[in-house]
Amino acid sequence: MSAIEPAHDAPLALLGATREELCARAATLPGGRGQAEALHRSAFREGRFEPESALPAAQAAAWREALAFDLPRVVRRECESTATGLLEKAVLADARGLEYECVRIPMGRERESICLSTQVGCAMACRFCETGLLGRLRQLSAAEIVGQVVLARAQLGWRPTQVVFMGMGEPLDNTANLIQALHVLTDRAGLGFARERLTVCTIGRREGLAALHALGWKRLNLAISLNAADDARRSELMPATRALPLQELQELLISYRPRANFRLGLHWCLLPGLNDTRDDARRLAAWCAPLGRVLVQVIPYNPGTQPITRAPSEDEIARFLGWLREEGLAVRRRITKGRGVMAACGQLGNAELRGRAPRERGR
Ligand code: SF4
Repeated sequence: MSAIEPAHDAPLALLGATREELCARAATLPGGRGQAEALHRSAFREGRFEPESALPAAQAAAWREALAFDLPRVVRRECESTATGLLEKAVLADARGLEYECVRIPMGRERESICLSTQVGCAMACRFCETGLLGRLRQLSAAEIVGQVVLARAQLGWRPTQVVFMGMGEPLDNTANLIQALHVLTDRAGLGFARERLTVCTIGRREGLAALHALGWKRLNLAISLNAADDARRSELMPATRALPLQELQELLISYRPRANFRLGLHWCLLPGLNDTRDDARRLAAWCAPLGRVLVQVIPYNPGTQPITRAPSEDEIARFLGWLREEGLAVRRRITKGRGVMAACGQLGNAELRGRAPRERGR
């Protein structure tokens, strides 16, 4: 039994299961496979679980006993206009009232990303990140991860065409639930996202990368939150990276490549005075050299409630991008979206949650 599979008589979390997993549970339930497929359809398409609408009360009760269906409560929604459309952050709450967030990011040309959380808070404690100030309060289940997408489509009117795991939490600190969520998100009988529409963003964790690699999904996108190309600076900015020094991370990424033309994403949060010099650009290029195709995304720092520096100016951003190009790197500047509603990169996290549970700092 996997770590996330419930004991046989425990309710199966409907939103954390593929249709086949649900049908396997349906063998002894009223209506069997046909009823399971109907319940699966309405749960994933409409965000509803109403066995009473099709079954007599006693039979519906049997389904209610066998399955768990919970969508998070929407605490509030905050919007910001951007050049490509309306960015929106939804603050959600679990049954205990712990809040986590997902973000709709308009990409233009009728594309939109949904940025998902995998944990409430995060144990990695990256110093430039608001979520890191919370500590890890709890893991989100696969159903809660997928539930953000179902809720967004059914209740918020979002139409995500791609999914990025860049919200609250380190996805590879919750690997079993992340991987189950990937299976459910790509289930053709359900939400049906193509694998190339999914991007996992991580600081790089040994076991998690091995588990993703073992999936053998050639088209799944991977991005590493790098931010410094020397161990001393990286561990100062991201204490949890001490567990995986850059040379070892580089070796893992060299052997990770799932297909010949795979392009690895590298995220660089640009922090004035901390990682924005000519030498930083040179070191980054040297570290990337053995990795094959990479795309460096430069993300201007978005100061949170405890800033470690200021936001970079447009000149500073352009200068750093220019140095990276001179070094021969493919680069893209991430346009800042959502800063005004604390929905931009590194800004997710509710200051009121700090101290509500013991902090579990990076390992
Ligand atoms: S940047 Fe990511 S890994 Fe680091 S503290 Fe924030 S959420 Fe966690």
